[in-house]
This record gives sequence, structure tokens and C-alpha cells, in this order.
Amino acid sequence: MAMVQVRPRLVDPARFLIALGLVALVAGVEAPPIQAAGAQSGTALGSSRVSTERLGGADQYAVAVAISARLFPHGAAPVVYLAAGDNFADALAAGPIAARAGGAILYTSSSSLPSAVGLELVRLAPARVEVLGGTAVISAAVVANVTGLLAPGTIVERVAGSDAAGTAAALSARSFKPGSAPTVFVAGAGSAADAIAAGPAAAQLGGPLLLAAAATLPSATAAELSRLKPGRVVVVGATSSVSDAVLAQIAQIVPKVERVSGADAYASAAAVAARFLPIAATEVVASGPGYANGLVAVPLAAARHASILFAQPTDMLPTATRDRLIATRPTTIVIAGSVSEVVRAQLVGFADGRLTVPAPTPAYPATDSAYHDYGEMVTLIKATEIAYPTLVHVFSIGKSYQGRDIWAAKVSDNVSVDENEPEVLVDALHHADEHLGVEQALYLLSTLTSEYSTNAYVHRLVNEREIFIVFALNPDGWAYDLSGGTYHYWRKNRQPNGGYIGTDINRNYGYKWGCCGGSSSSASAWNYRGTSAFSTPEARALRDFVASRVVGGVQQIKTHVTLHVNGELILYPYGYTKTGLPADMTADDHAVFLSMAQTMAGMNGYTAEQSSRLYVTDGDEIDWMYHQYRIFSFTFELYPLDQNILYRDVYPPYSVVAAQTARNRGALLYLIDTAACPYRVINKAAQYCSAAPILPAPSGLLP
Ligand SMILES: [Zn+2]
Repeated sequence: MAMVQVRPRLVDPARFLIALGLVALVAGVEAPPIQAAGAQSGTALGSSRVSTERLGGADQYAVAVAISARLFPHGAAPVVYLAAGDNFADALAAGPIAARAGGAILYTSSSSLPSAVGLELVRLAPARVEVLGGTAVISAAVVANVTGLLAPGTIVERVAGSDAAGTAAALSARSFKPGSAPTVFVAGAGSAADAIAAGPAAAQLGGPLLLAAAATLPSATAAELSRLKPGRVVVVGATSSVSDAVLAQIAQIVPKVERVSGADAYASAAAVAARFLPIAATEVVASGPGYANGLVAVPLAAARHASILFAQPTDMLPTATRDRLIATRPTTIVIAGSVSEVVRAQLVGFADGRLTVPAPTPAYPATDSAYHDYGEMVTLIKATEIAYPTLVHVFSIGKSYQGRDIWAAKVSDNVSVDENEPEVLVDALHHADEHLGVEQALYLLSTLTSEYSTNAYVHRLVNEREIFIVFALNPDGWAYDLSGGTYHYWRKNRQPNGGYIGTDINRNYGYKWGCCGGSSSSASAWNYRGTSAFSTPEARALRDFVASRVVGGVQQIKTHVTLHVNGELILYPYGYTKTGLPADMTADDHAVFLSMAQTMAGMNGYTAEQSSRLYVTDGDEIDWMYHQYRIFSFTFELYPLDQNILYRDVYPPYSVVAAQTARNRGALLYLIDTAACPYRVINKAAQYCSAAPILPAPSGLLP
């Protein structure tokens, strides 16, 4: 049952504006338009055909104001629907109603009207305000504030049923005569995403949205369906939000009922879009957290004949949203809420075709699905290149045994130019089951790009270094390790040798290969070294890339870290011998290794030690990097601490990834910084680095 109340004016508008600290506005006849916070236009991110409109803000209240400002740039909205920003169940059905009435939806907090919302109401100067929900949702004080703010005669009404379904039915009853709605949409009252996604479709088809419970059809909804007598009902969402039993109840009132749904809320939204808005020049993408930004975007989407899709503010675009953009190729994408530049680059890149769906590779098990598989990694690094085209260049250093690209990124200012700057290499996933290393490499790429314009230290490092990141040296082993939806504890690559498969890539490098019992000659062994040094295409690709960084006879890469799991260790050469200072290392270099390792360990809480301390390894990467080029080369064994599972690195849950990758931030930035002259850490910069900023590789140790 709708309560319709016309409230008297309680608050003097001038007093309200003074209370807002906006004295200058009091004398004015009307408030100036509120700038849509974060609203920007223009072709986006180097795209020749796709532009984005960002209607962002600090919170859902600001986002609603930004959308309203875009929808009504000159004010004069006939009606405003006012919903509770932290409890908008009573407003779920307001989208198509507001679209039909040509109105806006704004949010208030339940106990007080935010000042920016008050200003927007004054600017819109509506003839009518519909307050959605009872006094428990939006207080009488807020209604009084709103009434006091607007011109005399403005109607301020409260629309509230006994629950959200009742409010939806009341809104419908106020807008639609019997027989005037050919199609009615129904969504679960507990499924905000479904209700929001249904909004633009309902508006397009000229019908209202009603709400159902999962197991029963509320009496208010049943009564409204009986009154409207629509030709059909479209239920949006999965059986978990509206059961088949409810569909059967609806069918007793309206025989023609269909369900539109997908595997999750994102997919349901895309399914609604595909069914009812198959062609869209504009798409609206609402970002989380939650779905508040989507609800207020429904009138804008309806006005543009756009659907509403969903995205998270950071990381990967949902596949359903991605596939919809590929299908419709919109020329305008409206972003309701805020997303990272990399998410925006995915929106634009999939819409304009610069990003494509990667070839399928096995995905992580459901419990670890937030880890980035190979395809997601490729999308993420290519989107980062689109987002930061002057800072990031993505390329492949070669192919794996099975033909997968071994992807890398160069990060530097003027990235397309090979500037004379000290270079750094970070690589990950020699060992296929050491997944956290990929996440660490992606973390570094994100840090160097997203913080470039906000963090002075990151800015300087990116400007003054050339940083190369190889994200996954062993993509074949990785795919195998994830195959069949379960982990295989697979370490090696997938190259056959005799009757066995796989070489340990990190025993396949060319210095002291197979010398010292630190690898196995048995093809079945976990640490099989291969048929010869560099017998694996993956180690060859890494070797050839590092060789390509010799410019004018000088190796440009000065510091390097290879990311492994696990043990929380920082290892330095040599691995082939337990001798701390053998003849093939200078005392100064040994001192640099010790100092850098201890400094980094002080930053991340790992233990610094010589690589051979636990067990001898021969033919590994860091021995070769140092011996071949005098690169100060380290192994990070990431989280967790060793758990005495010698041949099995563990698979940490994704819940630890954010903290365990951020943990190495300081150490990685230090490694990048130190590349200018590693000998500075032992106060011998003048001796080794004064002649030129780039240090020549000591020729005496080259083969
Ligand atoms: Zn490893």
C-alpha cells in the first residue's frame, strides 16, 4: 500500500544553503550546475573509434549527482526519485519508472541529506520528488530538508509499501494503467544486479519492474500483475533468486513467462542486454563495490538505448561484460562509478578490437579463480599497455616448446626509445607450479604504471631506468599444472625427452651446466637438466633476450631477480658451489651481493643467503646471469616459509596474494634503483661507475 504524503515546507532554503556553507548562492536566483565529478569525454586511450564518459565520484551519492548532471545539464528535471544510498531495496524498481517519467534518481543517507545532493535538487528544481521507502529507510527529517529546499508548491511524496516488492508495485500502479504495459519484468528482491540490469530493457519495452522473493510471489506483486494484465512477463535472474515455483505462480496470472539469466550476475546482465537490446552504440558499465552505481544509471542508459553491464573497479573485466562489448562494439562507453585505468583500457580495447579473447588455456580451480591464468595475464598486460602507452611496451621474447608466447613488458618513460638508461630484468615462473611469482610480476607492472603520476620515487625510477618484466617463462608447464581443474605439482616444461616429459628450465642454463650434482641427468627426475645446456626453448628465449641487451659491447641489464616459490629467501650466486668466494667471483662483487641481499631482506623480512646453502644447483639462471654478464642476479623464493615439502612448492590461497606481493614492493624498487651502480652499496661507485653511467661487463669473465 502506497503512502502518499504532501509535506509542508519546514526548512527555509536560504538557511539550508547557509548551513551548507554556500552563502554566496543564497542571493542568486538559481544554483549553478554541479560539475559531474570526474566527467570526461573524448576518444579514449588512443582508440580511433571508442570514447568513454566517466561519471565517477567519491561515493554512490556523488556518482548519482554526476549522472543527474549529465542527464539534465540545464536542470529542469520534472521529477526526482530519492532513494536511500545505503539501503536501496525500495528503489530497485525506480529505474524504468524514472526513465518513463523523464526523471533522475538521487541518493540520500537515511538520516541527513548530503550537501551535494541538496544542491543538485535545487539545480534540478523538480515539480515533484518521490521519496522511496518508509521512515526507517529515509527519515522524516530528510523529507523536511528536501521540502524546505525546493520552491513552494513542489510536491514531495513518500512512496512506500510494506516491503520492497510493495514499493515496486506502488510505483508501477502510479505509472501504468491496466493494459498499458505489454511486458512486465520481474527480478528477485534480493538480487539488486538483476533488477538493475532489467531496468533499461523494461524502459525500452514500456513496462514496469516488479519484485519477487526467491520462493514465493509477494501478494503485492501478484495483485499488480492481475491489475496490469500484461502480454508477457520476463523474469530476470537465476533460480536461486526467483525459483521455478515462482515462475509457475506468475504463469497462473500471466500465461506467457520467460526467464533470462546467466551463470552469475554479470552474465545475467549481458543476457538481458543480448535479448532486449541487441544493438547498442552506447553501453553503460556500472562499477562496484555493490550495485548502487548501477541503479542510478538506469534512466541514463534508457535515454541512450544502452544496456547496463557490470565491472569491478580493478583487475579483470568480467567475461560476460567483455563478450557483450565484443558483440556490440559500442562507440561510447559510459562508466558509472570509478574504474582503474587498466579496467577502462579493457572496456575500450575490447570495444575497438585491440584486445581479443585469448586462446583458451586451463583456468585455476574455482577456489583459486582470482589467480590470473595465462589468458588473463595476457589481457591484463596488454590492457596496461593501452592504458599507459608512453610507459609500457608489451612483446614476446619467444615461444615455448608448445608454441605459447613468453610475454614480456618494457616499462620506462619514452618506452619506444632505447634510451641510455640502466636496465633491470624481473622474470617469473621458471617452475610451472610457482604461481605466486606471476602475481608478483603483475604487481610490479601495476605499481610502476598506476603510481607513475602519484609517487615521486616510482616516477623517478620509471624515468631513469628501463625495466623488463618476463611474466611467465614456462607457460606450457603452467597450463599443464592447471589442466583438468586440479593442481598437478608440475615444475618442468613440457618438452619430451625419451619416454619422459619435461626439463627443469632452471637447471638448463649454460654456466656449470650439470657440473656438480646440482641437477639430474635422468629425464624422469624433477630437476632434469635437459640434453644439453639451453636445450629448452624457454631458457634459450631468456638467454637470447638478455644477449639482445648488449649494446655497444656493454650489457645494459645491471640487476635481476627471478621470482620463485617458496621459502621466503633471497638467494645470490653461486648455486653450483658452496664456496662463498670462488675464483669466478670478485671480492667486490661478493660484497655487493651480500649487501644488496641483506638490504632487501631487511625490507621484506626474507632470509638472505648464498643460493647453494640449502642444496647445490647447477645450470641455474642466476649463476649464468652473473658469470656471463656480471649482472647482480638474485632469486626470490616467495611466501610461504618452507614446509619441508622438498619437491613440492605449495599453492598459497589467493587471500594472501595482496599482502605477500606488496611485501616485496620495497625490495623490488630497491633492486631497480640500485641498477644505476650496484657498487654504490659498497661505496665503490667512483671506482666502478664514475667513467660512465653504464657499467661495462668485465671482459675477463666472458667465455
Ligand atoms: Zn622455483
